[in-house]
Amino acid sequence: FNPRHPYTIALSKATPKAHPATASEAISALDGEVPSAARMPTGCRFHPRCPVAVDHCGKEDPPAVAVGPNHEAACWLLTK
Ligand code: SF4
Repeated sequence: FNPRHPYTIALSKATPKAHPATASEAISALDGEVPSAARMPTGCRFHPRCPVAVDHCGKEDPPAVAVGPNHEAACWLLTK
């Protein structure tokens, strides 16, 4: 498992650990509210909650780019 997209990485980190060493490790989640399907954010749908978002993220959808064999991700940080 080699996630490249920030949302996938965040989801992976939010998965409860079987044997957490600390309370924060046991309880970690994405900050912010899940957007309403009726009012999706502009640009990258994840930008209001993305910890590494840049200005451009809320303006335009990122294109899917190849990040490995049979592996694509849509993130502006992966297009450069
Ligand atoms: S495009 Fe921007 S907001 Fe979306 S996942 Fe990448 S860095 Fe985060």
